[in-house]
Amino acid sequence: MEPIYLDNNATTRMDPEVLDAMLPYFSTQFGNASSAHHFGIEVGGALKLARRQLQSLVGAAFDHEIIYTSGGTESDNTAILSALETRSERNEIVTTTVEHPAILALVGHLERSRDIKVHYIKVDPQGRLDIEGYRRALGPKTVLASVMWANNETGTIFPVAELAELAHDAGALFHTDAVQAVGKIPIDLKATAIDMLSLSGHKLHGPKGIGALYVRKGTEFKPLIRGGHQERGRRGGTENVPAIVGLGKASELAAASLSEELTRVRDLRDRLEFGILEQIGHCFVTGDIENRLSNTSNIAFEYIDGEAILLHMNRAGIAASSGAACTSGSMEPSHVLRAMGVPFEALHGAIRFSLSRNNSDREVSTVLEALPGIFTKLRALSPLWRDRKQGQDLGMRDYV
Ligand SMILES: *Cc1c(COP(=O)(O)O)cnc(C)c1O
Repeated sequence: MEPIYLDNNATTRMDPEVLDAMLPYFSTQFGNASSAHHFGIEVGGALKLARRQLQSLVGAAFDHEIIYTSGGTESDNTAILSALETRSERNEIVTTTVEHPAILALVGHLERSRDIKVHYIKVDPQGRLDIEGYRRALGPKTVLASVMWANNETGTIFPVAELAELAHDAGALFHTDAVQAVGKIPIDLKATAIDMLSLSGHKLHGPKGIGALYVRKGTEFKPLIRGGHQERGRRGGTENVPAIVGLGKASELAAASLSEELTRVRDLRDRLEFGILEQIGHCFVTGDIENRLSNTSNIAFEYIDGEAILLHMNRAGIAASSGAACTSGSMEPSHVLRAMGVPFEALHGAIRFSLSRNNSDREVSTVLEALPGIFTKLRALSPLWRDRKQGQDLGMRDYV
C-alpha cells in the first residue's frame, strides 16, 4: 500500500508543476538577476513574474511589498527585529501563548537579553484568543503586536484584520505569521491594516528554504541580513532564483485550488473527523471548530500516548503528527494544547491530521478502516485506560 500522508501542516509535497517551473533555473537559466547581460535579464524577468504571482495570492497592492527570505522562521524574526529597531522609543511586544516557536523562541530571547517586555495573550479551552486581554495589553509602549493568522497545531483562525486595527489604535505595528493560512484561506492584504505578514513556500506545495515577508508600503523597515542591493536593500544575498520561481508557481496553483481547499479538502477532513469520533470514542476535537482551517483536525485521545499511536499508524502506512515535542529525551506535551487547558489524560494523546489537495476519498476510507484496530490494541495495553475502567481517580489533573 502507498503510504498516506496526513501531515501537511508540517510540510507539503511539492507540486510537480512547481518542479517543472524550477528546473530551467538549475541549468540553462543560471544567470544572476543583477547582471545587465542576456543571462541576467531573463532571470530578472522570471523573478518579476514570480513576485507578481505571490503578490496576487495575498492581495498585496504593490509587488515590492514582498521581500523574499529563507522561510517562515526568517520572515518572523525579520518582522519583529525590524519593528524593534524602527520604534526604539517603545519596548513592549504583544503576542500569544500559542505562536509557533519561530516567534516564541525569539521574543523569549529578547525578554531575557534586552529591556523588552512581552505580553502573552491567552486562549480559552476552544483555542479562541482573549480579545479583551489583547486590547488591554496594547498601549503607548507597544512596538508591535504579532498574532498568527492560523494555528499550525489546531488550525484555529484568529481575527487578524480586527486585531490589526486594534494595534493601530494603540500606535503599534501589526505582524501576522500566516504560514499556515496562505493558500488555505482567501487573503486580501490591501483590504486590511496588517503591516507585515510571514509566509513559507513548503507549506503550500512549494520548495523548502524559501519564504517571504510582506511589508506594507510606507512601513519603516530595517533589514535583518545586510549585503547587496537585492530586495531593494532589504535582504542581502543573491536571490534563490529556482526557489523564488517555485514559490511563484506554487502561489499561482494555490490561488487556483483555493476553492477546492474550502470544499473537497474540507469534506475529506470532516469525513475523517466524524469517522474517528464515531468509531473510537473517548476523544474530542481541539481548537475552534467554527473558525478553523479546512484541512486540519487535531483530535485528543484520552488515556493513550500519542507517540504510541503515531508509531502504530506509521506501521500501517499512515503519517500524521502529535503536538508533543521531544525536549531533553522526554516528551513535552504541546504548548498550544497546554495553553488551551486540555486535561492531562488527553494532553499526551493528541494527534494532528492535516490534509491537502493531494489526499483522496479512498485514503480517508483506508485510514478509517485501520484506526479502530490500532486503538483497541493500544488501549488494551494502556495502564491509564485500565485504571480508568476500574473507576480510579488518578488525580492527574493537578499535574497540568
Ligand atoms: C512551519 C511554520 C513556520 C516556519 O516556517 P519555515 O519555512 O519552516 O521556517 C512558522 N510558523 C508557522 C505557523 C508554521 O507552521
